[in-house]
Amino acid sequence: MTETPHILLVDDDSALLQALPQTLHLRIAGINIDTCNEAKCALEQISHNDYDAIISDIKMPGMDGLELLRQIKKVRSATPTILITGHGEHDLAIQALRGGAYDYIQKPIDRDTFVASLQRAIQTYQLHRQVVTQQIALAQHANMLEYQVQKRTSELSEANQTKEKLFSIVAHEIKQPLSNLKGMAQLLQQQVDRQVPAESLVQGLQEIEHALERTELLVQDLLDTSLIETNLFVLHCQRQDLVALCQRILQEYTAGTAGPRLMSEVKGRPLMAEVDESRLCQVLLNLLGNARKYSPQGSTIIVRVQQLGYQAIISIQDEGPGIVVEEQEKIFEQFYRVPGIEPQAGIKPGVGLGLYISRKIIERHGGHIAVESRPGAGSTFAIYLPIAIDETTTDIIPGAEPHTAAVWTLIH
Ligand code: ADP
Repeated sequence: MTETPHILLVDDDSALLQALPQTLHLRIAGINIDTCNEAKCALEQISHNDYDAIISDIKMPGMDGLELLRQIKKVRSATPTILITGHGEHDLAIQALRGGAYDYIQKPIDRDTFVASLQRAIQTYQLHRQVVTQQIALAQHANMLEYQVQKRTSELSEANQTKEKLFSIVAHEIKQPLSNLKGMAQLLQQQVDRQVPAESLVQGLQEIEHALERTELLVQDLLDTSLIETNLFVLHCQRQDLVALCQRILQEYTAGTAGPRLMSEVKGRPLMAEVDESRLCQVLLNLLGNARKYSPQGSTIIVRVQQLGYQAIISIQDEGPGIVVEEQEKIFEQFYRVPGIEPQAGIKPGVGLGLYISRKIIERHGGHIAVESRPGAGSTFAIYLPIAIDETTTDIIPGAEPHTAAVWTLIH
């Protein structure tokens, strides 16, 4: 027996109701016995307690043992019930067994037989209880597995839909520049055949170059997305000063004549973080590109490097159209473009992968990316990165106001 047994003894014979518990206490360690001198009281007890076994006399005034057995079967069908019959009352014993009794004991009661039968009954019921518990656990496990299968299936179907969308976008986006390229190449061929002067060919060649660049960018975005999706995206991080890194990027970005102009710069002390330089550069160029793509010419773009506790923040603030709150989460998803926000004239819209890739790159660095924006009031995209901590990092005040390390102002 695994648990302390709890049983119910029902008999109108008060002498037996006293004697039997004494015998049982001596032979079954720790047994807990409730007694009733009539069936009604027994039913009341049974409704409150899940007994390991019930022993009842068959012959009792009012409700007899057989009727009590029927009632027990209704409320506690699995509880083993042993009935006590008078000597030679074989008919009653058979009726008891047919009515679902676990066993019967004849009077005068042979104590060994009685105890052995009761112990079997208790063991049977305790095993039954364990089986039920295990069945419930199994059913719960099966439910959990089913839930996981459903969840995985819906993830797979979502991934499949994304892939289908990707194929259709790739086909559409690559088809356009390819047919442009084909047309331009044919035109150049005709011009070469007609021996048009070399200068006239230059424009055509430039257009071909632009179309190729755009296709190259698109292919690069798709490649990055595929690396992220298949978990093959690897970072090569090194300790870098974010102020110096931004300085280099912005100097290169503003060096050409077609790009924005660097109006002013305020550089403070270094701010170190473990980053993959080329990937962080990719994110910054994407954010700068968006700031220029979506805001009016001549407007200002401000880039800041700040420290807030254990985090470094690189933010890019523009004077573009701004984004309504409901759209702000969605722009970091794949292929999402805010309806009604168009690039400045002459700039082709992207496919909506830039911010998705940027978010994944920053998350891989242990950071996050966020936008603060209001329609008509421009947008600020902020990259949060954990700063590198070593024995020289002494002056970190968690939760304080951000401390600005560097600011650059660009006009585009
Ligand atoms: P896209 O190639 O379309 O620019 P992104 O993933 O970089 O793709 O951006 C997703 C969308 O978020 C853009 O299509 C645009 O609607 C919106 N968006 C991104 N940056 C800005 C910005 N600085 N100002 C306003 N809207 C922006």
